[in-house]
Amino acid sequence: MAPIQPDTHVQFLKGVGEGRAQLLAGAGIETVRDLIFFFPFRYEDRRHPSRVQDLGKLIDTPVLLRGRVNSAQARVSPRKHMQLFEAVLDDGSGSVKLIWFNQRFLADQIKRGDKLAVYGIPRVTGYGGALTIESPDWEKFEGAEEEEGSIVPIYSKIGNIAPKALRRLIFTSLDALPLVDDPLPDDLREKLGVIDLHTAIRAIHQPTELNDEFLRQRSPAHLRVILQEFFTLQLALRVRRANDEVQAKTRTIVIDDRMRDEVKRILPFKLTTAQKRVLREIATDLQSSKPMYRLLQGDVGSGKTIVALIAAMLMIRNKQQVALLAPTEILVEQHYQRIRQLLDHSVAVARATGSMGAGERRTLISGLREGYIQLVIGTHALLEERVKFQSLGLAIVDEQHRFGVEQRQKLFAKGEMPDILVMTATPIPRSLALAIYGDLELSVIDELPPGRQRIKTAIRAAHEVDRVYDFIDGEIAKGAQIYIVYPIIEESEKSNLKPLTLGFEKTRERFPKRRVAMMHGRMKSDEKEETMQRFKRGEIDILVATTVIEVGIDVANASIMLIVDADRFGLSQLHQLRGRVGRGTRKSYCILLHDERAAADALDRLRLFERSRDGFEVAEHDLQIRGPGEFLGTRQSGALRFRMGNILRDYDLMEKARDLAITTIDEGLPRAEDIAQKLLGVPVPAATAKD
Ligand code: ADP
Ligand code: MG
Repeated sequence: MAPIQPDTHVQFLKGVGEGRAQLLAGAGIETVRDLIFFFPFRYEDRRHPSRVQDLGKLIDTPVLLRGRVNSAQARVSPRKHMQLFEAVLDDGSGSVKLIWFNQRFLADQIKRGDKLAVYGIPRVTGYGGALTIESPDWEKFEGAEEEEGSIVPIYSKIGNIAPKALRRLIFTSLDALPLVDDPLPDDLREKLGVIDLHTAIRAIHQPTELNDEFLRQRSPAHLRVILQEFFTLQLALRVRRANDEVQAKTRTIVIDDRMRDEVKRILPFKLTTAQKRVLREIATDLQSSKPMYRLLQGDVGSGKTIVALIAAMLMIRNKQQVALLAPTEILVEQHYQRIRQLLDHSVAVARATGSMGAGERRTLISGLREGYIQLVIGTHALLEERVKFQSLGLAIVDEQHRFGVEQRQKLFAKGEMPDILVMTATPIPRSLALAIYGDLELSVIDELPPGRQRIKTAIRAAHEVDRVYDFIDGEIAKGAQIYIVYPIIEESEKSNLKPLTLGFEKTRERFPKRRVAMMHGRMKSDEKEETMQRFKRGEIDILVATTVIEVGIDVANASIMLIVDADRFGLSQLHQLRGRVGRGTRKSYCILLHDERAAADALDRLRLFERSRDGFEVAEHDLQIRGPGEFLGTRQSGALRFRMGNILRDYDLMEKARDLAITTIDEGLPRAEDIAQKLLGVPVPAATAKD
């Protein structure tokens, strides 16, 4: 057989047939190099065998035993019709029974007289308190029984490939390790203070010591791999950006006094200091020769919309078209109404939603293509192939976390290097922002408009609902309006609306004299719109809704948010919902109703939420609890799947990687590109057991 090379396909390894090759490919492993980068997720220290005579003290803890097989036989369990294989292992101090289920082939592999090392958990089973180890890991050994075992790496399971076989494949592949190029040149390795790749990889697969540093993934070997992962990301982001910057925009944007006056005229209130600062940052970007790529981050209700609208207006007055992408039709409608109010008829505004009629769609498409529609506000409908612009100068994405990377990219591709502004009300913790948006400029509105109420948050158990209802009734009598939200996933077409409709009926029965309406994502869009308008006009007292109202909705007179089964929501989602109230002068409340059977940790989460005010705090908690993948939703988490790095735990390393990426670029783009290329060539296995 030809010597094993890093690029050798796994199929050429001994023991890998078509079936296994397919299983491995499913886990993202195609070459020997991929195998080397498939890291264990834990280790078992099998160096110190226990004695059978001591097992009585070791019940329910994993032990290693080394001994000789006294007897071995296959039989069928009479009760469960299961194939059993039983062996008795004797180590001189005593003997213990081993049992495997449905593994008949073992009869060919384990024979009386064999020397066996087994690793498993002794339990008391059967009559008379006999000790048994069920389905232990096993290995034959030569040589003396008292000889030491080793530290065994445990890999996440790939199909039905036996752990031992997988381990053997990886160990075989390690022989090709000296041929793997270190993608980090010496000088960068020195700057990062990390060891070479070979030493690191070998130490991770075959450690000689399991000390605390190693187990916390802070050994030199781990630091090497983590820093490499982070550096790869940061360098790739920066290289991309550096390349973009080479190209200059063709449009020239001028902001003159006439425009400033117009802005002042249309503003219904005084901007906060934070809004002014952010607006200045954006205006500078728009006038610069480089395309803007800016994330506007601001807590719920901090007033991002007006900033976006002013930016849009500045572009429109410079004869550029502007697109604003929003996640829901309701939000599109709200933006549309608000902008029409502000701008009168001085700007040609259009909407793009999935429920447009054919005629409306035609008008929209020709209007955008020919350029007489200056501003379009739309949902995903905006992303359709047919929607083309004459000159898209600014693309804005509201609630950007609700869109995937490809969706945003689709919008951006509709212009020629458009300026890009993405906005989010789910504050992204610093650690995540750095990881995902290493290449984005960040603007933060860290101040709420004046006069905002502090929202009182309360946790109540389901059986207290009557008292909650009484309270609500009292508030309605004083003129307040109420949201009641039920946990129904909006995204899914098939989601069961029953809890909502039942909740709606229950609310109507409880509040016969009040005006109660229902809203969910699957209603026709004009129905939704009408309901929303009636709620805004104060013609509805209680709006029973799904999370369709989660983002953006702005009704100042609504002052109570009652969330049913609050324990089923994520913290950031609760924060978004809570942000729907406290927008006017009315004292506002967010009441979290939880199931009596809610788990203790779910209640802890709610308490944590009750105490935290600021969206960043909530987001940090949420991130800690759910991890980056869940926090961002799977759509965005792709870039954050590290083999070893953990952006929360290893935030310091991410910063270090970013700083080095910046200096590397500064020292010369061609070399940086070259290094980035090499780094990106390092495989990323699809799954590790951490997920
Ligand atoms: P978000 O940042 O969550 O998108 P919005 O842009 O919807 O928040 O703003 C929330 C509310 O605050 C709106 O009713 C808006 O008109 C109002 N608002 C925004 N900025 C100010 C300000 N500077 N002064 C007073 N009210 C403001
Ligand atoms: Mg908003």
